Amino acid sequence: MTKYIFVTGGVTSSLGKGIISASIAKLLQARGYRVTIQKFDPYINIDPGTLNPYEHGECYVTEDGAETDLDLGHYERFLNVPTSQANNITTGRIYQNVINKEREGAYLGKTVQVVPHITDEIKRNIRILGENGEYDIVITELGGTVGDIESLPYIEAVRQFRWEIGYSNSLVIHLTLIPFLAAAGELKTKPTQHSVKTLLEYGIQPDVLVCRTEHHLSQDLRRKIALFCNVNINAVVESIDASTIYDVPLLMLKEQLDKTVLSKLKLAQKNEPNLENWKNFLGRLKNPTSEIRIGLVGKYVELPDAYKSINESFIHAGASNECKVKVSCIHSESITDENVAERLEGLHGILVAPGFGNRGIEGKITAIKYVREKNIPFFGICLGMQCAVIEFGRNVLGLKNAHSTEMDEKTPYPVISMMEEQKKIKNKGGTMRLGAYTCDLKKGTKAALIYGKSQVTERHRHRYEFNNEYLKQYEDAGMIASGMNPDNHLVEIVELKNHPFFVAGQFHPELKSTVANPHPLFVNFVAASLAFARKK
Ligand code: GLN
Repeated sequence: MTKYIFVTGGVTSSLGKGIISASIAKLLQARGYRVTIQKFDPYINIDPGTLNPYEHGECYVTEDGAETDLDLGHYERFLNVPTSQANNITTGRIYQNVINKEREGAYLGKTVQVVPHITDEIKRNIRILGENGEYDIVITELGGTVGDIESLPYIEAVRQFRWEIGYSNSLVIHLTLIPFLAAAGELKTKPTQHSVKTLLEYGIQPDVLVCRTEHHLSQDLRRKIALFCNVNINAVVESIDASTIYDVPLLMLKEQLDKTVLSKLKLAQKNEPNLENWKNFLGRLKNPTSEIRIGLVGKYVELPDAYKSINESFIHAGASNECKVKVSCIHSESITDENVAERLEGLHGILVAPGFGNRGIEGKITAIKYVREKNIPFFGICLGMQCAVIEFGRNVLGLKNAHSTEMDEKTPYPVISMMEEQKKIKNKGGTMRLGAYTCDLKKGTKAALIYGKSQVTERHRHRYEFNNEYLKQYEDAGMIASGMNPDNHLVEIVELKNHPFFVAGQFHPELKSTVANPHPLFVNFVAASLAFARKK
């Protein structure tokens, strides 16, 4: 029977529930259990696809094309197991399902209410992942903080769910904060006591408290928390600030969180967790033999979460190369013809980021012209690839004012244009070309060499594409389509023949890089940048 772990948050947001959930999952997986993680987000949007990155950070796209919360990225990076639409549910989706059923007449004669209809729908979505026997343990992370008005139906659903499946088949882990008051020189437990009381008011007694803290918790303090929050002393777990999120599973192992969880769920301890590969990765990450600086040119640079997966991919690829990758974010709006040399000074490689709309586009194009001409390694992702095509069109092929029709509908040279199937689409939500598609790699190209395969699948999120009417012209001049969708001939990868590393993809490789499988394009881009740094 599938067991369920619920992770709630108290006192404040941003405690890192996603990382804690992923770390517990990692430990259980390393003991041989099959684990998945699900996140409930208590907002009304159906999914985060229509949210501005400033609001919500990056939108993470799954294999099946769901636009989801960035925590799913952590789940995949830690577990190396793909997630899907079922792993991220919002309040909007719960209500939409209930309202659709109401219109179908499924509740005929009944008043539709938060309890039981919304809570039933939440419970149904908790159960979905555990139903087909694919997982031994499902971890469900509840977004928001206990006490929020919008989280209430989720807490109530968890209370009912536990009552229904039995208390030894489920577990509540409450993540909380133990603040340090500098003036008093003390760690304070009161906010945790209050947040556990709030949970108790809703009928939930947490089994485990994971306490975020800047200082170690003494035995006395742990005893005090255990006594006032009504949990076992070994269920008070310290989660101290770590230098990298990838340390957290090992910190939780030290606290024996995996043992506590398994014994409360009445599951066998099985083997000691096998974390050999994880530790090797950490060893390489923490002991680099070289260092490079990569420029990340984008327009959401004020908010690091907007490029979360890209930054994490550089961590994986850096560790692979035993090289510290320092990523400098450069606002594309700040780059001009006059200052480009100065803005990109000292960088060993440039990544031009994904994005939407006109803002900052010319700066991206200017940066690409510079690195193409100076033979500096370049990696373009999605809009970054489209910008590389525009730049080559304008400056090599002489197509004056070549552009994407996203930015300039009347461009004389629409080298990037809207995909045919997108033209009839009116609604913005969930209608891009999303999720995994196949890409054939052309023999002998850099892309084929890097992947070491002739076919791959990669994830997408876009409406515009390379305009194949120009393909011959581009290839004759040295920009080749080294990756192409075999079904519709959409250009997936472009690269330059005569450049040390100039590769750009229409897809998002950053969504598939994990600790266990660093993405080959990132690994090779870092290697090329390292080679460039050594030559200088
Ligand atoms: N705006 C571009 C498109 O829709 C690129 C999207 C992206 O970078 N994710 O095609």
